[in-house]
Amino acid sequence: MKENYIAKRLEANGIVQGVGFRPFVYQLANRYGIKGEIANTSAGVSLHIEGTSNDIDLFCRDLTEKCPPLAKITDMSIRSVPLGGYKDFSIAKSKGQQFRSTLISPDVAVCDDCLSELFNPDDRRFQYPFINCTNCGPRYTIIDDIPYDRLNTSMKHFTMCEMCQSEYDNPSNRRFHAQPNACKVCGPHVTLYDARKNVIEAVDPVKGTTVLLKKGYSVAIKGLGGFHLAVDAENGDAVCRLRERKHREEKPFAVMSYSIGRVEEYADVSSEEKTLLTSFQRPIVLLKKREPNQLSKDVAPRNRYFGVMLPYTPLHYLLLQHDFLALVMTSGNCIEEPIAIDNDEAFERLSDIADYFLMHNRDIYLRSDDSVERIAAGSKRYIRRSRGYVPIPVFLKQEVPQLLACGAELKNTICLTKGKNAFLSQHIGDLENLETYSFFKMTIEHMERILDIDPVAVACDFHPDYLSTHYAQTLSGIPIIQVQHHHAHIVSCMAENQIDGPVIGLSFDGTGYGTDGCIWGGEILIAETGNFSRAAALSYIPMPGAAAAIREPWRMMLSYLYDAYGEAFIDLNIPSVHEISVKKRNVIVDMILKKINSPLTSSLGRFFDGVAALLGIRSRVSFEGQAAIELEMLAEDMSSDVYDYEWAEEDMLRVLTAPIIKGIVRDVGKGIPSAVISSKFHMTLIRLFSDLCWVLREKTGLDRVVMSGGVFQNSLLLDGLKTSLEKNRFQVFTHSQVPANDGGIALGQALAAAAMMQ
Ligand code: ZN
Ligand code: ZN
Ligand code: FE
Repeated sequence: MKENYIAKRLEANGIVQGVGFRPFVYQLANRYGIKGEIANTSAGVSLHIEGTSNDIDLFCRDLTEKCPPLAKITDMSIRSVPLGGYKDFSIAKSKGQQFRSTLISPDVAVCDDCLSELFNPDDRRFQYPFINCTNCGPRYTIIDDIPYDRLNTSMKHFTMCEMCQSEYDNPSNRRFHAQPNACKVCGPHVTLYDARKNVIEAVDPVKGTTVLLKKGYSVAIKGLGGFHLAVDAENGDAVCRLRERKHREEKPFAVMSYSIGRVEEYADVSSEEKTLLTSFQRPIVLLKKREPNQLSKDVAPRNRYFGVMLPYTPLHYLLLQHDFLALVMTSGNCIEEPIAIDNDEAFERLSDIADYFLMHNRDIYLRSDDSVERIAAGSKRYIRRSRGYVPIPVFLKQEVPQLLACGAELKNTICLTKGKNAFLSQHIGDLENLETYSFFKMTIEHMERILDIDPVAVACDFHPDYLSTHYAQTLSGIPIIQVQHHHAHIVSCMAENQIDGPVIGLSFDGTGYGTDGCIWGGEILIAETGNFSRAAALSYIPMPGAAAAIREPWRMMLSYLYDAYGEAFIDLNIPSVHEISVKKRNVIVDMILKKINSPLTSSLGRFFDGVAALLGIRSRVSFEGQAAIELEMLAEDMSSDVYDYEWAEEDMLRVLTAPIIKGIVRDVGKGIPSAVISSKFHMTLIRLFSDLCWVLREKTGLDRVVMSGGVFQNSLLLDGLKTSLEKNRFQVFTHSQVPANDGGIALGQALAAAAMMQ
């Protein structure tokens, strides 16, 4: 023992297990001549270190600054302890079962070290599709239980060969304790089948797949979190056939390209977008199309953007390296069902869609769709937060009890809380069928198990008929807390920004059940985490046909027109009105007058739909938000012109839609181009809501504005409103960690419920 040696105990919590943290520490200790040991603990890792005070300082600096890409230290404590007389630095044996509360890493794209081995003919893993190390590979999707050990993953069926085992056991190796470690000799393999489960023999399955794709066939490819359906994105016939078979009329397909260079042949890529595309999470990023381009026009019809991702598994790299500008890589599911993960299930469910199947024999325990993001208003914005991010928690300002929040109906995700962590699940989907509902239940059980969470209460939406609400009601023995939909949106945004109320909350979306039984969606709330009041909203308008009015925006158009003009709207010179038969028009007017199946709504999403139909952009939609998206896409340079707008002072401020509708009708009559009208409409909303915030600030003294809800996926509105409010000295909070849409709502439910319980 040297005389100037001191000893410290260091506890680090966060994502520090299964991410190469201990080998990193081992190598760091050797670099600075530090003695001692490191061990996994219940919350992270514990280190005993001995050395000179200078070496210890350098060691501690590198520990936080140079930690492995996947590791995340959420907090760290250091204290002085007596010297232990260690002769070297070692990794203490993990004590296994007792460690249940460490954070689990998400699935991670193949790293550069593994990639260079993959393409090195001299490497023993040359072209092996399952190459991985502690810095990359599958995690969340292959874990069945904790601790994160090979036996608790779907790799338990593969016994490591001698060479793999020696890497696994060597603390200085990149594959030390890499649970999915494998090679050609001992690990999983790919097999190519036709749709009748016959093995296609005598070819390299990966090369065979590229040949089939080149010929225009569709192939179901098993990936990390589920199956993709792939076709050559340049082959229009193949893309159309896939649309027909998948019953997916127009919703854009995501594509995958080998490199940024290839992406730039068909889309513009900014430096922020490049960072996002190449991040280890490898999300689908929405990129502006470059026109003209070589991809089939049916990849993303009537959309200015392509959803693009780079390869994230070694298999993807092998498939894309030589051929293809891009492959369509869309979720392997039938419409509205969860993505297929099991081999037999895939044959059963996808054999009407895919011509061939590229399967492998490593099981996926938990499905996880690709995440979808875009850059808007200067930050990255989630449209779907799933693979690559889950189960990294949202870090909260203060501790909350262990809670389960069941989310909403569409784009469902669930949320579990524990301490200062809120774990939002991967994308579950629209809870409208039994398959998705059972996936929902399975995800809750699975996450409760691997995160070791036993909820003391359950939060759900206010809507009496949501399946997620019904589920909450089936849980016996714990209290149920119902949270109003738009309040939950605002609290979700407050939670990720770590702020408390009260705030002015702009909660704009398509549908949410109001406390008065009407359908809300254009709401300005004065909100705190545990309660809210409604300060302003769009005035109520009937939705003739209820759910049908969501699918068929022409119904909403007639409803807004009737509200503005009464029956005189029939005489207006609007082509999209005259395209509707007199009989149909009369039925709708009758429904509105007699209040037949016409619930009232204050939804801003429906207002967008109505305006889109009025401009003849779209009279029916095949996916949620389609008309609104196309209206946004149409807007070019932002107008400085606005339509007249006004609100009425009633029990709250009621925004009247009629003056805006009348302005649009006048412009349509004058033959003003739809692109101009769309810009003017967006600008009108920006001015209108800025004014309302101004009025509410006068009334309440609040100057913090929180913006949430699916309508804020509209980047013109998000950007315009944020800029306008900030110019007027408001502090504006938006989403950048969870989606603004219903995919982020479970977080708000959980936090609101926690506040209500106090
Ligand atoms: Zn790697
Ligand atoms: Zn091996
Ligand atoms: Fe919503």
